[in-house]
Amino acid sequence: MRWTETLIPTLKETPAEAEIVSHKLLLRAGLIRKLTGGLYTFLPLGLRALRKVEQIVREEMNRAGALEVLMPALQPPDIWQQSGRYEAARDVLFKVRDRAKKEWVLGPTHEEVITSLVAGEISSYRQMPKNFYQIQTKFRDEIRPRFGLMRAKEFVMKDAYSFDATDEGAQASYRKMYDAYARIFQRCGLKAIPVEADTGVMGGKFSHEFMVPAETGENEVVFCEGCGYAANVEKASSKWSAPSPPQAPSGAVERFPTPGVATIEDLARPPYGVPASRQIKTLVFLVESKPVLVLLRGDDQLNEAKLAGVLGTITFRAAESEEIHAALGAHPGSLGAVGVTQYPVYADERLRDTAGMTTGANADGYHLRNVALGRDIAVTRFADLRLVRAGEPCPHCGQPLKVQRAIEVGHVFKLGTKYSEALNALFLDETGKQQPAVMGCYGIGVTRTLQAIIEQSHDDFGIIWPMSVAPYTVCVTPLSVVPGSDVLRRAEEIYAALSAQQVDVILDDRNERPGVKFKDSELVGFPIRVAIGEKSLAKGEVEIKPRAGALLSVKADEAVARVLELIRQAA
Ligand code: ATP
Ligand code: MG
Repeated sequence: MRWTETLIPTLKETPAEAEIVSHKLLLRAGLIRKLTGGLYTFLPLGLRALRKVEQIVREEMNRAGALEVLMPALQPPDIWQQSGRYEAARDVLFKVRDRAKKEWVLGPTHEEVITSLVAGEISSYRQMPKNFYQIQTKFRDEIRPRFGLMRAKEFVMKDAYSFDATDEGAQASYRKMYDAYARIFQRCGLKAIPVEADTGVMGGKFSHEFMVPAETGENEVVFCEGCGYAANVEKASSKWSAPSPPQAPSGAVERFPTPGVATIEDLARPPYGVPASRQIKTLVFLVESKPVLVLLRGDDQLNEAKLAGVLGTITFRAAESEEIHAALGAHPGSLGAVGVTQYPVYADERLRDTAGMTTGANADGYHLRNVALGRDIAVTRFADLRLVRAGEPCPHCGQPLKVQRAIEVGHVFKLGTKYSEALNALFLDETGKQQPAVMGCYGIGVTRTLQAIIEQSHDDFGIIWPMSVAPYTVCVTPLSVVPGSDVLRRAEEIYAALSAQQVDVILDDRNERPGVKFKDSELVGFPIRVAIGEKSLAKGEVEIKPRAGALLSVKADEAVARVLELIRQAA
């Protein structure tokens, strides 16, 4: 390709719309343009890089035995009703109406469609395992689309769905996808770490997310350098997430006045001096407008994802002060669960069998001391509800845990039989008994992966593409383009020779100053630049500059061979 024949609208200035470096570089390097918030057009170079990521994904899916299909993006709402997600996914579903005013949904994901397909096509254990995948546009009505391709309203996902006759089979399918994902991200030149993920209200068995460490990531990952434990903070636990050693109750519950005390810290100060670790924090949430009490140690924070898992829904909210007063007869600051039997009470594991605790008395300005969990509070269920923080001991080896921000690029999920039961994907097993297929689902955000590569691989001058996904591998740069000159002739020769070797090469044939050309090729981030200038060519030499390496002066006649060697080394 010749630079003058394609469209590479590089920008000197950073557009105001971009907050993070990868988004800025996507725009500045002329890879994408915004149509409107959360919607982007891929320009020729951006699309080339995207196609390369897609191709790596496709090859590894095929290698893992998955079958490529293509499902409709437009879906009938009844299958969403059948799976029970029409309501649950309400917030992300884009809905459209046809001429008869009938409603349709734009697929944010395809469990419903693929399971309906399998329900009709697979009827025997002999036809399994099967794993179907597609690379397709997804639509999600995100609350906060931002950071360019990272969180868009419309994006490209690779989604795969496995169907097995047995649970062991499903685990093997899961493992295959896990391994394929590791290969995909490695081939994309991306450092992505698999971490244990929350299975949340999807109710799946287990799940891993592939995370790219980055300060701008929207997730937090907890990890241990000692044993390799790594988990999304939504799921992470530590040695402190276990029950405390049992404590014997010490005397009866005592009510005492605490005028003006509104927080854990107030009660920790003199004259009360009750350490936060000896207080019970009482939170009130509303689930379908019914109050639910959540208890934690005073020095712990709630992990809302864990609470969602315990409640079995993500549609709950913190109660307002007046709603709390109506439910418990007191305002926040004096709340407690002693004697509360009319509402469910969920307590963090760390509180189990603790005694001598202090909590609110459900009367403004009063607290209770000598509270023993087992004796004085009717706990509906103990569960791990606390947020793990950096420095806590690893649940496996005890070393201090670290916390890092990260971008989720992929997700593997063992689903079980939720969808196959709801949508009748049943088969006859070896004994002739009808069973629901055991499913897994596996997603990669292809467009998000492309941007994550840039977020991880750039410098002050621009993108540093890994060779495997660069829009063009080589940029041949004649420093002058005077027709008939030696420089241009040499450049054309090298360009033609590399093209003939199937190298993705672009010829910067613009009539621009060398400085402009160099800046642009660094901004776009071509892995190798071959510069042909009058002075060096007079000595029979050209300059090869790997984007991330040192400049090499080589014999002009050897330039093509040297470039091919650099490409081979990177493969
Ligand atoms: P997130 O937590 O970031 O919203 P998710 O868990 O809802 O993502 P999945 O349903 O697991 O996403 O989708 C599979 C993959 O699709 C994600 O791992 C992510 O890489 C990508 N993805 C999800 N939502 C978006 C989006 N709005 N824009 C771009 N990529 C996305
Ligand atoms: Mg996910």
